[in-house]
Amino acid sequence: CGIVGYIGNDNVLEILLKGLEKMEYRGYDSAGIGVRNDEEVKVFKEKGRIRDLREKVETDFDATVGIGHTRWATHGVPNVVNAHPHQSTNGRFTLVHNGVIENYEQLKNDHLGDVELVSSTDTEIIVEVIAKLADEGMTTEEAFNRTLGELHGSYALGLLDEEDPDVIYVAKNKSPLLLGKGEDFNVITSDAMAMLQITNEFVELMDGEVVLLKKDDIVIKDKEGNAVERDSYIAEIDA
Ligand code: GLU
Repeated sequence: CGIVGYIGNDNVLEILLKGLEKMEYRGYDSAGIGVRNDEEVKVFKEKGRIRDLREKVETDFDATVGIGHTRWATHGVPNVVNAHPHQSTNGRFTLVHNGVIENYEQLKNDHLGDVELVSSTDTEIIVEVIAKLADEGMTTEEAFNRTLGELHGSYALGLLDEEDPDVIYVAKNKSPLLLGKGEDFNVITSDAMAMLQITNEFVELMDGEVVLLKKDDIVIKDKEGNAVERDSYIAEIDA
């Protein structure tokens, strides 16, 4: 399983699909991408191979921001509905997640009494809690932070907010995730290999940190919300 994400100026579809193909060796049962242009986010997902997903993607959708996911099911059978990305019922938030949320039932009871969930994943609960808190007046960053504070378990996360085309929200805890730097773009990836097609410059991400990934900036914050400065490194591996 794995995650990729890109924010920049180039068409993101092929970048994400190639990245997911590079991670096929990690094992997965389904895959999907969530991509956006200036107006809207579109989600394409499919059970099975990346080449099956390719057939579902509208290749003429001109997106320059997106997140992608290969799933190894832990909660809910492998099928299209349970594949990631998951979207909040109001359509505003789109999320990919690797890992396991142990207290998802509790979160559901605490926050989502009136929400109809469509999948049987632990992941959908995360995106609904974020949407609920945003609805109640929090900024997306606040809602993301508050939700992370309530999660028990492992996660690598990439989140899109339909109302803000300039940011991918990112966090991790006990699941791998790296930041990658480029000229006028930035990426996230579970494995450096999946992004060597466009960059070999990476920045490590630590458990508990939150990242605002923009095309010309990477803002890393610690648990207290303080900015973290971290040098990048060059990955000396062949693509
Ligand atoms: N727990 C999530 C699910 O079952 C994510 C699994 C994964 O890491 O791919 O959908």
